[in-house]
Amino acid sequence: MLCFAASLSAAQQLSESETVYLASQNPVSLCVDPDWWPFETINTSGQHVGISADLLDLVAKRLGMQFKLHQTRTWEESLVASQAGNCRLMSFLNRTPERERWLIFTEPLLSDPNVLITREEHPFIANLSTLSGKTMALPRGTAMMERLRVDYPHLILVGTESEAEALKMVSERKADMTLRSLIVAAHTIKQHGWFNLKISGQIPGYDNQLRVGVLQSETVLRDLLDKGIATLTAEDRSRVVDHHVSINVVTQVDTDYTLVLWLLALLAAVALTSLVWMRRLHQLNAQLRTQSQTDLLTGLLNRHGLARSFALDVERAQRYLRPLSVLMLDIDHFKRINDGQGHLMGDKVLVELARVIQATVRQVDTVCRWGGEEFVVVCHETTGEQAAQQAERLLQCVRQHAFAHGQPVTISAGVATVRSGDSVETLLARADGALYQAKTTGRDRVCDEPPQS
Ligand code: GH3
Ligand code: MG
Ligand code: MG
Repeated sequence: MLCFAASLSAAQQLSESETVYLASQNPVSLCVDPDWWPFETINTSGQHVGISADLLDLVAKRLGMQFKLHQTRTWEESLVASQAGNCRLMSFLNRTPERERWLIFTEPLLSDPNVLITREEHPFIANLSTLSGKTMALPRGTAMMERLRVDYPHLILVGTESEAEALKMVSERKADMTLRSLIVAAHTIKQHGWFNLKISGQIPGYDNQLRVGVLQSETVLRDLLDKGIATLTAEDRSRVVDHHVSINVVTQVDTDYTLVLWLLALLAAVALTSLVWMRRLHQLNAQLRTQSQTDLLTGLLNRHGLARSFALDVERAQRYLRPLSVLMLDIDHFKRINDGQGHLMGDKVLVELARVIQATVRQVDTVCRWGGEEFVVVCHETTGEQAAQQAERLLQCVRQHAFAHGQPVTISAGVATVRSGDSVETLLARADGALYQAKTTGRDRVCDEPPQS
């Protein structure tokens, strides 16, 4: 058993609807590949074990989720069970167009290169398209089979029942080559002693991006899992892989280990490079995401940053019939501050107002600088009446706040609440209409959207 520090960071905290989902939908049924060691298998006690099981276990613990294994004897049986809706999750698989017909996918749990494996005497393979008429053995129903059929139609693909059978066919001259995961190939070759095999090449872009497949309707579940997967660090992944891959190295004697050691050295080099690279990419992406979604002046979310979560919030509110309201806020006569005390002072007022808004609304509410001197607050689980009261409180706080430029500041607010058939656009258009009414009837006031006809 491996031990890991575990928790969700602030950015990954669960939304209320995700918490509700977890409370009502646990445990989540899971289909796996019973023959893909060391990635995964079902052991004699009927438990899911291996690299994918350990990674999923980490994700589940961090989310407070439980999985219920749906037992199958082959990968094909798991695919059928998933298509029939008998398991909401497929544990560890590549995304392919075929699978996207019924599944949506999480971010990768693990990335692992695929390598071309031939017998010893085969020359290095630089380009697979020059090998027309050669036979390649592959387990049936795999993503690689699906992709190769399209990308390399001149290869003769031979389906096998298992990972081991594919490698055995190559070793016994019944096929020219196979294309397998480096991790799995290293393990299987070692286990069976097929030392007449070697790695003869790699096809660019054919890496395994091993993700969790989720039934198409279960977007909340997918988003939840992504929050858990986002907590997996490079160290978590390498510890899990090392635990399973290095386990048997010292247990065998009297065999030629040249290929095994070569494979393991290559595996270590590739794993290390890809982990460092993945980590760097992850950091850069996180930085980019934060920068592109944050308003530089106030530090609030910008319009772009609000967009995705807001659309999901509106969708969930409608699906689960929960109230959700928005406040659209605009500073009154802001131009006068700019004109009278300069643009820099105007900026200061915007920053101060952003702080007042954040300090006044509830922590769960989402505050966004919509643009210029306009702000949007998304009030979760809040009726129109409650939102209007919240807006009145906010206006009062703004009136009472001593701004740095020494002048009173007031704001106007428009309130709208999600109705059936609403989109983000229709909801905001009604809030904007209500704000317009607040402006035209004297400013420094809250106006509700017109009642539903
Ligand atoms: P109203 O009460 O009708 O909202 O009047 P207003 O003067 O607040 O509104 P108007 O739309 O006429 O002017 C908004 C001003 O906000 C114009 C624009 O120059 C200024 N503004 C927009 N973004 C910024 C910014 O980032 N910093 C500063 N200092 N001013 C900004
Ligand atoms: Mg204004
Ligand atoms: Mg304005």
